[in-house]
Amino acid sequence: MKKNYECERCGVVTDNRDHLCVPKSVDNIHSYCGFAGDVANMCDSIREKAAYTCVTCGRMAEKAEMICETIKLH
Ligand SMILES: [Zn+2]
Ligand SMILES: [Zn+2]
Repeated sequence: MKKNYECERCGVVTDNRDHLCVPKSVDNIHSYCGFAGDVANMCDSIREKAAYTCVTCGRMAEKAEMICETIKLH
């Protein structure tokens, strides 16, 4: 199973830790989704890559399957 990472600063989720400024490994979707990240302070390194946001918790992610309920932003 592929590992996912959450940015400790802004909460964006990705499977490529190089995209995050403060990466922290997460076990599965339930360990982070449902808790909103502070996306107001989203890091510049991930801003262009985080294309999905969760409609229930507001968290953003690089891939749709990383969050529970998605809408595509761009
Ligand atoms: Zn969610
Ligand atoms: Zn960040």
